[in-house]
Amino acid sequence: MSGSSASSTPPPAGGQGLSQPVTVLRGVAGRLAGKLEKLGLRTVGDVLFHLPHRYEDRTHRVPIGSLQSGQHALVRGRVELAEVAQGRRKRLMCRVSDGTGSLTLVFFHYFPNQLQQFRQGRVLECYGEARPGVSALQMQMVHPEYSIVSDLDAPPEQPGLTPVYPATEGVNQTTLRRLADQALNWAREGLGDLLPAELLEGRGLPDLFTALQQVHHPAPDSSLAQLDAGVHPAQRRLALEELLAHHLSLRQVRHRLRADRRAPVLRGTGRLVGRFLEQLPFSLTNAQQRVEGEVARDMASAEPMLRLVQGDVGSGKTVVAALAALRAVESGQQAAVMAPTELLAEQHYRNFRDWLQPLGVDVAWMSGKLPAARRREMLQAIAEGRALVAVGTHALFQEQVTFHRLGLVIVDEQHRFGVHQRMALKEKGQTADAQPHQLIMTATPIPRTLAMTAYADLDVSIIDELPPGRTPIRTVAVPDSRREEVVAGIAAACSEGRQAYWVCTLIEESDQLQAEAAEATEAMLKEAIPEVSVALVHGRMKPADKEAVMARFAGGEVQLLVATTVIEVGVDVPNASLMVIENPERLGLAQLHQLRGRVGRGTAASSCVLLYRAPLTDMARRRLGVLRETTDGFEIARQDLELRGPGELLGTRQTGAWQFRVADLTRDGSLLPDVQVLAERLLQEDMPRVDALIERWVGEAQRYGRV
Ligand code: ADP
Ligand code: MG
Repeated sequence: MSGSSASSTPPPAGGQGLSQPVTVLRGVAGRLAGKLEKLGLRTVGDVLFHLPHRYEDRTHRVPIGSLQSGQHALVRGRVELAEVAQGRRKRLMCRVSDGTGSLTLVFFHYFPNQLQQFRQGRVLECYGEARPGVSALQMQMVHPEYSIVSDLDAPPEQPGLTPVYPATEGVNQTTLRRLADQALNWAREGLGDLLPAELLEGRGLPDLFTALQQVHHPAPDSSLAQLDAGVHPAQRRLALEELLAHHLSLRQVRHRLRADRRAPVLRGTGRLVGRFLEQLPFSLTNAQQRVEGEVARDMASAEPMLRLVQGDVGSGKTVVAALAALRAVESGQQAAVMAPTELLAEQHYRNFRDWLQPLGVDVAWMSGKLPAARRREMLQAIAEGRALVAVGTHALFQEQVTFHRLGLVIVDEQHRFGVHQRMALKEKGQTADAQPHQLIMTATPIPRTLAMTAYADLDVSIIDELPPGRTPIRTVAVPDSRREEVVAGIAAACSEGRQAYWVCTLIEESDQLQAEAAEATEAMLKEAIPEVSVALVHGRMKPADKEAVMARFAGGEVQLLVATTVIEVGVDVPNASLMVIENPERLGLAQLHQLRGRVGRGTAASSCVLLYRAPLTDMARRRLGVLRETTDGFEIARQDLELRGPGELLGTRQTGAWQFRVADLTRDGSLLPDVQVLAERLLQEDMPRVDALIERWVGEAQRYGRV
């Protein structure tokens, strides 16, 4: 069973041949190789691991006479007529019949010799989607897959399910199947299995070669539903290996960062921290204390800290960040605090300035929108080390910014920064052998197993407790048709001295359109409830104007604030206890949760109205239902993960370095505990296997992580 006799180069033993270029495969010459490259297929191994994304059932034939519109089916028919039809668009038409009815095959793209192939009397086996043709009675298939077979009644060519691969122009399914078969032959001898056999057996998972073979060539009795759902044991086995490889690669990134570089030891003196805690109007929650302790321990070590602090909206992450910054300052180093939006960065700046200035710590402000003179001043203060803390947007890691002695970088990523930006920031303050400690804060709670996989390059701390005295937010979903009622409700609340937000959402990313929509809403509300003082804040306003409006709102002068989603992060007005979110069905659950977190910050009972546009899709209804039922960010994250998968939760993390071939973090979540166990074991016992796994599954992305 070597299968090698027909290939142009015989496969070497030991699976070594997998790194050979695709051109060693039969029928792959320059042009096809170029096209395969577009699919990322450069080596035999790439082809072997280029897996089907779905399957088709071609195991039984459908009589032409019984074809339904929209049905994907395998049919056989004898050619009755084939011709090139001129018409609006030139096309090759071929009529076949099997005695129960006739079917027209239509090809808009065809080879000159194709007409000869369809010689009258020949029998074709076709697979495609049946659609009504010119007359509703006569079905047709556009660009079906077909082959010429010997007779009408022989059993179907494919005994098992047919794989369908991700393809590209000029590389069709037949080619990909043929190449996969050859790659399997190359792998047959001694494809190294990198997972321990006893672990696989215990879980009913096949060895690697068997898994690949079953995925490329499902056995005749395999279930289409199971394969399409991605839960066939062969797929689970591959997913396990892939998740393991990614996990290991992140752990290696972390290991390298820590092994190569030293960070300044920031033990602090406790002098500023003590005074800061004294002046705070509240005491830290247990969770804040615990996380603060973890951060302090990391910073006191020469191993660079890489810690992610997760905490629901309002859990008090800013205080923890301020404490870390003070610790750096006490140790004679600078701290940089970076936020993803102008508004959030401004809020952090105000917080830090109000907290730290009284302690004699100068805080600098860096934003892309600073006037030139002010900007020069700030740059100088940072470079000379007069400003000990710098707060800003991504403007902080532009080239011109040089720090005097940067010891700590704090990134409030919410859910916006990805691993890429972090890599860029890390380089600030990094010298040949030193780098700052890093603290990343996120308000997107991620279930622990997922966090341990997706953030395996970080240590994770969780603030799992809200400060006392918060009253839960009541959330209702109301259709657009009841808008007037909602407006009346706001007027009533405002007359009782409460304050409210009205959030306008738009799918368009454009600030311009968002601003216009918000302006229209502002005008509508001013007219409908003239007794209420209404103001507007949106992303296109000058920072000073925005700040002025926010200050009037915070001071109670403005009762109703119309805003775009810019207020998602940053705004903290405890007296605001009512929020209306328009078209909530357009936003992600995490974002809605963030928005809603702007109310419920004081002691008054708060409510949130989700003013949706009817009718809702099923998915939208379920998602709004989740928000109505719980205000627990972790629970919302868990459900969002279930409804929409991890892409939404992980943001940019999911792209680039996080492209899975087989695995799906939502579906395969139950494999993650095994991933942990296996990772520990391999890291302890078998580094060559670790390297081989990363090379096999992560390859290039891993190299990216090295820059
Ligand atoms: P987030 O985690 O969403 O960034 P913040 O740090 O903005 O939360 O804190 C939300 C609000 O809670 C702020 O007004 C903050 O001053 C307040 N806060 C933080 N910690 C406590 C605490 N331990 N007790 C009472 N209030 C607190
Ligand atoms: Mg915050």
